[in-house]
Amino acid sequence: MNPFARLSLPLSALTLAFPAALPAAEHRPPNLIVIMTDDQGYGDTGFNGCKDIPTPNMDRLAAGGEVCTSAYAAFSVCAPSRAGFMTGRYPQRFGFERNTAWQPAVDTTGLDVRETTLAAALHPCGYKSMAIGKWHLGSNDNFHPLNRGFDEFYGHLGGGHRYFPEELTIKNTLDCRNEPDSYRSWILRGFQPVRTEHYLTEEFTREALDFVRRQKDNPFFLYLAYNAPHGPLQAPADEIAKFSGIKNEKRRTYAAMLTIVDRGIGRVLDLLDELKLADDTLVVFMSDNGGPTNANGSSNTPLRGGKSEPFEGGFRVPFAIRWPGQIPAGKSYAEPVSSLDIFATIAALNHIPANPERPLDGVNLLPYLRGEKTGAPHEHIFLRMFDSGAFAMREGDFKIVKDKKSEKIFLFNLAKDLSERNDLAAANPERLSNLQAAYQKWNAQLIPPAFPGLDMHQWSKPKAGAADGD
Ligand code: CA
Repeated sequence: MNPFARLSLPLSALTLAFPAALPAAEHRPPNLIVIMTDDQGYGDTGFNGCKDIPTPNMDRLAAGGEVCTSAYAAFSVCAPSRAGFMTGRYPQRFGFERNTAWQPAVDTTGLDVRETTLAAALHPCGYKSMAIGKWHLGSNDNFHPLNRGFDEFYGHLGGGHRYFPEELTIKNTLDCRNEPDSYRSWILRGFQPVRTEHYLTEEFTREALDFVRRQKDNPFFLYLAYNAPHGPLQAPADEIAKFSGIKNEKRRTYAAMLTIVDRGIGRVLDLLDELKLADDTLVVFMSDNGGPTNANGSSNTPLRGGKSEPFEGGFRVPFAIRWPGQIPAGKSYAEPVSSLDIFATIAALNHIPANPERPLDGVNLLPYLRGEKTGAPHEHIFLRMFDSGAFAMREGDFKIVKDKKSEKIFLFNLAKDLSERNDLAAANPERLSNLQAAYQKWNAQLIPPAFPGLDMHQWSKPKAGAADGD
């Protein structure tokens, strides 16, 4: 039967009405929601085996899609990781290799304005975009989300924030002299400082729900970047009390913080169901880097190391991706993927042309997640940390790592030794040398860091314990 027979329009009119010639089976490009937590450990979701902190909504999101068990952030600290995600490119290509310091008067400390953000790329496709929560891609107006492709912003520009309204005492961001001050600034709605009324995580959830309701009739991109569970460790006492069984005091508060994030994720998923948008929305959940276990009580079990390190615990993160009807539900995907792939995936769905001068490092994951393509999406996963001289590269099951503390380069087989304990370098000189050569080939394409980092400004350093884990 002619599929158009039940329509009264002649075929020529249909052709005119749908000039993009999409294959009949292709779904319309979906909305995109990226939920990024801050400093959450690899082992701290139920779907990655966490036992002492329930994460029912992170798990529900994961159960509706696929868990990527070998997902890498673009860096093992906050800001460069986010710069990578936001551009789909390794941040070392454009000099973003350090955490940004609080410098609202400096127009060079931030995400290179020649780079295209995900929001800017989606704008011509009709998407409305909102960034909520932590930005950390520059505190100068040059780098403000509204100047980088987003239509709306509700959040803070620095690397972390205090959570209770009564602690946010500095109205104007320009009055913040340093990083700890910035943690006390009022929250920005666009460029306007506003007073908060609730625990910050709840504020961000409320804004996310409001944005989705307002944008339900057109494509949207929501970047929901909770600053939790990054320090300072703060949560309402009654929420902390629910975890009295956890002996580690930091982890007890961390558990409460994570629980409030998880509840927010549940409300976002509930709203997608209520508005019947779930099937039209690609949702990604991830942490921006590994857990700083000593600073916030997080756990990267079973991985070695944590935040700011080149071992797996530094940049292998909890990661789940859901698009009902388009990505199989309840599956686990083991090949290495990257946060850089989010940009490439939504770009492919929207037929966004590549920029030959600034090519993406990510890969469209959909054919892999659907099982249409086999093999690994990436030949290599890279990490370079210029200041410490540390680096890492994964190729298949093998990984080379140089720790900042050692001149030695380690070689691990992650398939047999996920916790990176058994160094194979001495016994496999040829493999080590080949992997080093591949790393150097990539390294040669990079530039040095383009601006001084947070830890290079003594004046900008938080006092001990004030802003854990930057
Ligand atoms: Ca972080």
